[in-house]
Amino acid sequence: MRNIIDVTNESIGRATDLRYGPDGLNIIVATNRRSSIAAAEDVAAAYGSGTAMPLAGVPIAVKDNIATLDMPTTCASRILAGYTSPYEATAITRLRSSGAVIVAKTNMDEFAMGSSTESSAYGPTRNPIDPERAPGGSSGGSAAAVAAGIVNIALGSETGGSVRQPAAFCGVVGVKPTYGRVSRFGLVAFGSSLDQIGVCARSVREAELATYVMSGLDPLDATSADVTVPPLPDMTGSARPESLKGLTVGIPTEYFPDSLEPDVRAKCDSAIDKMRELGASIVNVSLPHTALAIPVYYIIAPAEASSNLARFDGVRFGPRAASAADLRTMYDATRSKGFGAEVQRRILIGTYVLSHGYYDAYYRKAQAVRELISRDFTNVFGSGVDILFTPTTPTPAFKLGAVTDPYEMYMSDIFTVTANLAGIPAISLPIGRVRGLPVGGQLLAKHFDEPRMFRAAEALEAALGEGAHQ
Ligand code: GLN
Repeated sequence: MRNIIDVTNESIGRATDLRYGPDGLNIIVATNRRSSIAAAEDVAAAYGSGTAMPLAGVPIAVKDNIATLDMPTTCASRILAGYTSPYEATAITRLRSSGAVIVAKTNMDEFAMGSSTESSAYGPTRNPIDPERAPGGSSGGSAAAVAAGIVNIALGSETGGSVRQPAAFCGVVGVKPTYGRVSRFGLVAFGSSLDQIGVCARSVREAELATYVMSGLDPLDATSADVTVPPLPDMTGSARPESLKGLTVGIPTEYFPDSLEPDVRAKCDSAIDKMRELGASIVNVSLPHTALAIPVYYIIAPAEASSNLARFDGVRFGPRAASAADLRTMYDATRSKGFGAEVQRRILIGTYVLSHGYYDAYYRKAQAVRELISRDFTNVFGSGVDILFTPTTPTPAFKLGAVTDPYEMYMSDIFTVTANLAGIPAISLPIGRVRGLPVGGQLLAKHFDEPRMFRAAEALEAALGEGAHQ
């Protein structure tokens, strides 16, 4: 095993490399060499004295909305400029106890609202595959950190596709666990009934390992689930195409609309062929309420966000607008200056759909439709389907600045927000390239069926081999 301190130093070296800072791809927003090296020394000592550590010395980058003690947590927002949390996320504590070393915080859309990392107060991240293009979002910095080789594992967060969509755009693996699988304690809340910490990684197995290490009941998060954590994957065996015999893979017609880019469809078709060759039986299925997912998401997520973001008013967190006549004026000035345009839009939508007179028409109706979307999944999984396969996004990465209409931006999550609304686990993995740009394929499973999801993903990944990046 290579020296843990050297591995940490090399990763910090990459994280602090000017190419990845504000004048380059703008992937990394904070590092703390001293505390990362100190952590690596502790891990080296514990490991040396025989403590079992599944992630001993593995460098990890963390999205800037997950609380860390030794680096700021700003959600890429001016309203949290310079803010460092007095406590650490449970997911981070668990990674550290497993030997992981946190080396950097990554860029993101402000408060995780966006699909391109362009709404960051630090400016956009560039996609390492093609710097003219967006890395996706909101965990664009985490996906890019893996794609650029800064780390093999990076944490992101999902409210509506924010790990899987950037993973697809950057050609890496992206996982959203079942809602409740990973504690949300220390993840800055956006839409609390949807939020979940997820993982970007170079391989399915690394993503699986990091997910399970973070998983399990946490008394600090009342929505974390008391469900047994599956055994950690064996990291020493070499990846072999496993048989998918006995597995029924459903292909939902709604995820393959006529408008889907033919090249993206072709890559999906080859991935489906591979799964068939591996022994899976492929069946067509229908999730009839899919088209309602984006409208429903854009009522529920902003409603919850408008409540969650009320705490950022200049009193407890971050900078306060100077010299205001009274408290109300101070709130207004702090929030108007501190929040960017997209965050303000969400707060306005959210307070509108929750307001007296509109609550029933929008919020309550959206909750009912969310239930229908959930039931679509329950029905197909109840009919003998084990796993669903879909494209992760309708198109590969778009150019920075190319999508200016908020509605068009929202539509890039059309295939991913359904899993968040239903709370089921999902993974995106690279399935090939179109015009040199990565295309992601998505596998969805029933609640807490991550083991089957990872097994299918790993078999597909191995069967695609180099083809996943060509
Ligand atoms: N792009 C979606 C949004 O802007 C999803 C964000 C997320 O998952 N954090 O809300």
